[in-house]
Amino acid sequence: MRATVMHAAGDVRIEDVPDPAIVEPTDAIMRVTRACICGSDLWPYASMEPSETGQSMGHEAIGVVEDVGSQVTRIKKGDVVVMPFAISDGTCQFCHEGLTTECVHVGFFGNDGMNGAQAEALRIPYANGTLFPLPVGEDDALMPSLLTLSDVMGTGHHAAVVAKVAPRKRVAVVGDGAVGLCGVIAAKRLGAEQIIIMGRHPDRIALARDFGATDVVSERGAEAVERVKELTGGYGAHSVLECVGHGESTETAINIARPGGAVGRVGVPQHNEIPASLPAFFGNITVGGGPAPVRAYIEELLPDILDGTIEPGKVFDRTVDLDGVPDGYRAMADRESIKVMVQP
Ligand SMILES: [Zn+2]
Repeated sequence: MRATVMHAAGDVRIEDVPDPAIVEPTDAIMRVTRACICGSDLWPYASMEPSETGQSMGHEAIGVVEDVGSQVTRIKKGDVVVMPFAISDGTCQFCHEGLTTECVHVGFFGNDGMNGAQAEALRIPYANGTLFPLPVGEDDALMPSLLTLSDVMGTGHHAAVVAKVAPRKRVAVVGDGAVGLCGVIAAKRLGAEQIIIMGRHPDRIALARDFGATDVVSERGAEAVERVKELTGGYGAHSVLECVGHGESTETAINIARPGGAVGRVGVPQHNEIPASLPAFFGNITVGGGPAPVRAYIEELLPDILDGTIEPGKVFDRTVDLDGVPDGYRAMADRESIKVMVQP
């Protein structure tokens, strides 16, 4: 079968690789019907050291189950399923607590020895826990929005949950990529009174407004902090969603939180240190977050997608087949595209 392999920064290839096969009795094999390119795939695309064997890519997908191991009971052949970006067994104490990305058996697709989903098919470990069956056919018109349940919509929602978004709260979203835009949807869905999107790309800002953003701040650094304070009655936002992961964006996120506020971090950090420790301490600001337990959020978010209340699939502005994946990476890296859907 064919799959996406990254060999170095800027070097993405479509290659013939061995077909996936059941290895453990808890495995399933999924034929990929939709996948996508993630903002986090752009980090290795910018910086990966050359590698002979390369890195299998892709961690967001919907597909059809082709085969299951002898211990897979919740999923059957022919099911249309969402594949969250992380595997989870569905049985450990962290899974029961809804923190599926801290599962004792966690692993991330495209890493941890697992193949990626920008491919024709892949093996799914712990299929009982990992996969979520959908009540729709494989070519349902809602596919783009359903596909966001594998990562960006659940991740934006996690940022909002960790940042304690609630009715009447003032919210700021740092980052206008697909996760930030889904963070706007999540904040509105949870009842925020004011939603400030921090970004500067006109097409993304227009989409953010469509999703419910009430204000736009395009400044950066100290000017951005000033501007958010002006817009929030002088004190900053109750809830800040950090959807980038840079040191600078994290510092801005903490500095625009009002005293007693909370910052939800879901952008994969590119540094080991959390900046702005002193303002966070003296502002009594909670700084939390991590890999979103998107598997646990599907049940809550799915009904709103099925009835059209939210349309996160609007973040996709380009669709490619597998041969178009390398150019899809380029388009996202050049900010020509917000998010690329892959139809293998
Ligand atoms: Zn678990």
